[in-house]
Amino acid sequence: MNRAHATLSVCLLLLLIMPTLVASQSISDETKKLQSSSIVIDTHDDTTQRLLDPKFDLSLRHNDGNVDIPRMKEGGLSAIFFSIWIPSKILGPEAVKKALDQIDAVRELVRKNPNDLLLATSAADIREAKNHHKIAVLMGVEGGHMMGNDLSVLRIFAALGVRYMTLTHMDNNEWADSSTDKPAHNGLTDFGKEVIREMNRLGIIVDIAHVSDKTFYDALETSKAPVFSSHSSCRAICQAPRNMTDDMIRDLAKHGGVIQINYHVGFLSQEFRDFEKAHPEAEKEINEEVKKRCGDNEACRLTTGDQVVRDFMQAGKLPKVDWTQIIDHIDHAVKIAGADHVGLGSDFDGAVMPLGMQDVTHIPQITDALLKKGYSESDIRKILGENTLRVLTQVEQVSRDLNK
Ligand SMILES: [Zn+2]
Repeated sequence: MNRAHATLSVCLLLLLIMPTLVASQSISDETKKLQSSSIVIDTHDDTTQRLLDPKFDLSLRHNDGNVDIPRMKEGGLSAIFFSIWIPSKILGPEAVKKALDQIDAVRELVRKNPNDLLLATSAADIREAKNHHKIAVLMGVEGGHMMGNDLSVLRIFAALGVRYMTLTHMDNNEWADSSTDKPAHNGLTDFGKEVIREMNRLGIIVDIAHVSDKTFYDALETSKAPVFSSHSSCRAICQAPRNMTDDMIRDLAKHGGVIQINYHVGFLSQEFRDFEKAHPEAEKEINEEVKKRCGDNEACRLTTGDQVVRDFMQAGKLPKVDWTQIIDHIDHAVKIAGADHVGLGSDFDGAVMPLGMQDVTHIPQITDALLKKGYSESDIRKILGENTLRVLTQVEQVSRDLNK
């Protein structure tokens, strides 16, 4: 979830009559075979916010948003991490309650769709779901503020199936600095380090997306298990503080971690970032268009910002960001850290997707592009999901060891 999305929020009716964009690339049989036989994992999706609307049914195909069950099947997705997210200004018991409501929404989604979904809490569960032709559903808490500074809440999250926690969101919390706030703790506080140790014992992956560089290094030093970024891209290509420097990517890899590449246009493209900075009026225009399409309809606002930005790109009002820029980031990270340390964390339904990647059905294009670039099938399988499975397995082993 990005501030861009929160502010660019988003009319279902209008979207229904809007033309569906960009036809799928033609995908070779070789790609289709590789994709369908691979475990494909997306480590960050904000679709949970839509699940809170009782009228929203994920089992139906929608014309808006980026994710639903039919489109996940079409895109060959094997596993999805639904993000449990609330704004970082909400704290204390209210934050805990709202996080639990979202965990319940994800668990209820799985309960109501037993033929398509399986609640997964381990690497073995993900492989089992694939064997039964089901999509594995996992959960990640996006922001340590949701545990209300209470380790018992963290333990309850783990018991309910949460398998990663992003240490911060866009603001610092009381024990960790965020990449998009002024440093207050010089990284992690002592309690922050205690949180990491308890996450290790519980088998929750430490997610360093959103954290400051110093928090990243503190987490790396404290964690006994590999850490990952559930949704970050490369700062060498696009200088967003949310992205990782080459040094960070290298150090993450040394500790066995994975950078899961984020598809958000503002993290992929320096040109787009520069334009946004130079033209603050563009955001106002986007917000006005969203308002025009959605009125007061909150559900509509949630998905329409993403579409409006792509419409504006097509109309030449914003620099065009193409889906192939995702491949540039994957390729850069692979050059820096090797194919064992790169994966996919789209930020679907929480960010602005580039042209040609407007929903989860377009994932096979990534497989196709990597094959055309000369990547081996084995490396592609790693990037699509095997690297994430490795991290999960190692985190599970560390948890077992610490509980002995
Ligand atoms: Zn995020």
